[in-house]
Formats: sequence, C-alpha cells, structure tokens
Amino acid sequence: MDQDKLNEFEQIDKFLKETLKRPQNLCDTCGRCCKSITTCRTHEELEQMAEEDKEEAWVFVNFFKRYPSIEEARKVIPEQVDQVIKELSYNKDFDINKISFYYCPHITDDGLCSVYETRPNCCRVAPRHGWSLMPPGCGFEGWQFEEREKTKASIRYLKEYLQRIELVYDNDDDIVSGQGMTVKEIREMIRTKIEPWEKYGSLFW
Ligand code: SF4
Ligand code: SF4
Repeated sequence: MDQDKLNEFEQIDKFLKETLKRPQNLCDTCGRCCKSITTCRTHEELEQMAEEDKEEAWVFVNFFKRYPSIEEARKVIPEQVDQVIKELSYNKDFDINKISFYYCPHITDDGLCSVYETRPNCCRVAPRHGWSLMPPGCGFEGWQFEEREKTKASIRYLKEYLQRIELVYDNDDDIVSGQGMTVKEIREMIRTKIEPWEKYGSLFW
C-alpha cells in the first residue's frame, strides 16, 4: 500500500476515534436541549448505576431534575418529547412507562449555561455525533448532516479497503504490507469500527 493510502487510512482512523470538535458558535442558545434530556435507561436503572458511581447515571440522578411525567415535559418542549418518543418506539422493547425526561436547573432564562466551566461531560460532547437526537431546528442541524455524511464515507472507505486487501492476499494470516497486521486482524479492527454505527444503518452504507 502506498504512503498516501496509508495516511488516508490513518486519517479515517483518527476521525472515527476522536470526538469531533463542535463549532460552539452554531448553538443559538435556545436552551431546549437542556430542558428535554432523556436516556434509554429507566430512572430505577440510573439510580442503581449512580450508586455504583457511574458518572453518566449520576448526572441524571443528582444533577438534572426529573419531570414528574412525560406530559409535564411535553408542556415545556413538546417537539422534542414527541420526536424522542417516536424514535424510541421503533425499538421492539419500547415501553413508554419506562421513559423519563429531565431538565437542568442550571439553564438560565437566556438559554445560557450558568455552570459552563464545570458542566458535566455529557454536555461538553453534545451533540455527540450526527445522529444525536437534538430538538428540531437546533443550530447544529447542518453540522450533524455533514457529520453523518463524513461518517458514512469513512465507513464506506473501510469496507472498500478491506475488500481490496481480501482480493490481494490469499490467507487470513498474511501480513498486510505497510500495516504490520494480518488480514484477519485488520478485518477484526474494521469490524469493531463499523459495529457502533450499526444502529444507524452502517451495514448498508
Ligand atoms: S437545542 Fe441546539 S441550538 Fe438549542 S441550546 Fe441546544 S445545542 Fe444550542
Ligand atoms: S449543565 Fe449547562 S449545558 Fe449542561 S444541561 Fe445544564 S445548562 Fe445545559
């Protein structure tokens, strides 16, 4: 494999590994994402996880506030509550009684974060990627579209790369030139990179 191709491969690897820098200026401080927070876990599961010091759960239990009901959350951000429920309902295990919505008490009336410097990690990395469910009309919509396309292109490249080496090398144990890895190891590495995106359709890209 020539050096340019190798560099390209490394770039894709970097892209898939690193959390992309979010252009924070895209946020128009509507504050809706901070008032319509949810997770696929039940509140009881979160409480259990928080006891085990799992930060992602601790934030929901001790930092955010839970709406008393979905209807109460819908009164505040109806478009996001409806969007989230619609998306979750595609899951065969969907049970509306297990869903809770949360709001953050640190959002100001101007849509600013009053604890910006010390905000939790989940806030720092939102939107996590192109498929993160942000409220309709969020300032990151265009950015998320671009990220989805970049991710798809990267996954496609990895699949094509694997196809190329499978054509060139006869045995799984052959060392791939310039990579220092066997065909089998590269196949496994590529599989682990594609797997997290399966729920968004990576098998078909
Ligand atoms: S919904 Fe989007 S635009 Fe509104 S505050 Fe959140 S990130 Fe910013
Ligand atoms: S800590 Fe700040 S960014 Fe995070 S949810 Fe609360 S107000 Fe929003």
